[in-house]
Amino acid sequence: MSVIPHLINGELVTENGRAVDVFNPSTGQAIHKLPLATRETIQHAIDAAKAAFPAWRNTPPAKRAQVMFRFKQLLEQNEARISQLISEEHGKTLEDAAGELKRGIENVEFACAAPEILKGEYSRNVGPNIDAWSDFQPLGVVAGITPFNFPAMVPLWMYPLAIVCGNCFILKPSERDPSSTLLIAQLLIEAGLPKGVLSVVHGDKTAVDALIEAPEVKALSFVGSTPIAEYIYAEGTKRGKRVQALGGAKNHAVLMPDADLDNAVSALMGAAYGSCGERCMAISVAVCVGDQVADALVAKLVPQIKALKIGAGTSCGLDMGPLVTGQARDKVSGYVDDGVAAGATLVVDGRGLSIPGNEDGFFLGGCLFDNVTPEMRIYKEEIFGPVLCVVRVNSLEEAMKLINDHEYGNGTCIFTRDGEAARLFCDEIEVGMVGVNVPLPVPVAYHSFGGWKRSLFGDLHAYGPDGVRFYTRRKAITQRWPQRASHEASQFAFPSL
Ligand code: NAD
Repeated sequence: MSVIPHLINGELVTENGRAVDVFNPSTGQAIHKLPLATRETIQHAIDAAKAAFPAWRNTPPAKRAQVMFRFKQLLEQNEARISQLISEEHGKTLEDAAGELKRGIENVEFACAAPEILKGEYSRNVGPNIDAWSDFQPLGVVAGITPFNFPAMVPLWMYPLAIVCGNCFILKPSERDPSSTLLIAQLLIEAGLPKGVLSVVHGDKTAVDALIEAPEVKALSFVGSTPIAEYIYAEGTKRGKRVQALGGAKNHAVLMPDADLDNAVSALMGAAYGSCGERCMAISVAVCVGDQVADALVAKLVPQIKALKIGAGTSCGLDMGPLVTGQARDKVSGYVDDGVAAGATLVVDGRGLSIPGNEDGFFLGGCLFDNVTPEMRIYKEEIFGPVLCVVRVNSLEEAMKLINDHEYGNGTCIFTRDGEAARLFCDEIEVGMVGVNVPLPVPVAYHSFGGWKRSLFGDLHAYGPDGVRFYTRRKAITQRWPQRASHEASQFAFPSL
């Protein structure tokens, strides 16, 4: 079993001490050992970042962008290799892995526009001979902590932008599927990034706490579950750091009586069961307005869920792979047991699925519940697996109240042909990302990504324009060059025109 190293100051570093196994979820076998960084290892990465910062900060943005152009090329050239690594450790299909990489590359493309996005704001003649401008300067050493479900894309939401803005970055990826994340970081070094500007350290709470507590780390970007997001936000902001912490989700799709049901069903199949439901934007609740819609939806979904092609993620042409760990599979199965006990109708039961040749893999078939009600745990909590819950309501207003009352507010969508209903939904829904006949409304890289309520702690969303503001701080400069002949008398009143 190979040992996965850290990447610190441009070098691969191995560490003896605490370690965990990394599994191939399709076979159920441990395939790598992963060291868990000590506080000293984290400090080593911080010291390297601190040393690299002065030169990197002063490197012209256009030069920083050139590194990103080369990085984009390397990512594209290595797509197959990266997708294979993602699929081997996460379990998602190769096509899905390639899709997440492409969405990650979009963020590198956005970062290539560094000279444009870092332009300040300028006003001439704000007073006699006085010009004023705002400059957007890097913060220094910043860190990111990322989840298992997008080992390529979510880190790429963070460090290309942070780095192109002139910061040095320390990434603590998920301990469950770190290999693709590490390879991608190595490609950025190969693209010409100076040593120390990006380090990757593996670890658990010890590593994260060391990053939170280090005074040199000026900002933290986190993506993961809500309890950890809340913890990192509270501990980071208490220490005066800038924090954006994106958390969990429970995304509802509303199906109106006038929806194009066949298209809505195709969209829901991908949004609920793609990546085994392990997406923060996965649709896990279908809210049907009227029993007729619900009956028709369930009738159309059942055969498609039963026909899902499930197997090892690395095989071609599949719809769904396994869940990421045995523990995750058992947790999701436990939710299905709980839904049955609470009285929901289990229409399709995916428990106990065994894949010939991969009997020890962490597989679970697609599950569908009907007649789910808001007090059930399967409705309230994030399941993060291939389980779709159908909730029946009588009106759009009732559907919207349900969504607005839920603790999470990451994504949602409405399927309808009615512009008035869609407009009302977009205006009044308490959710950060909204789709109209679009099931997974993940914003493109030149917009920004983030939920509302307990799906995001912090003020600025991830990547795009909000990302630039997050990774820079504004300096307002007011400058006067008096004309040589003039003499200004002292002025004791507050300066005004
Ligand atoms: P997680 O919260 O378990 O782990 C995320 C990161 O936090 C990992 O790097 C992990 O090592 C670290 N961590 C775990 N426990 C910690 C602790 N006690 N103290 C400090 N750090 C700790 O999340 P996960 O299981 O890897 O990912 C799935 C979750 O992420 C889901 O809830 C999903 O909705 C969420 N997610 C949200 C978004 C979003 O944009 N809102 C995107 C992707 C995933």
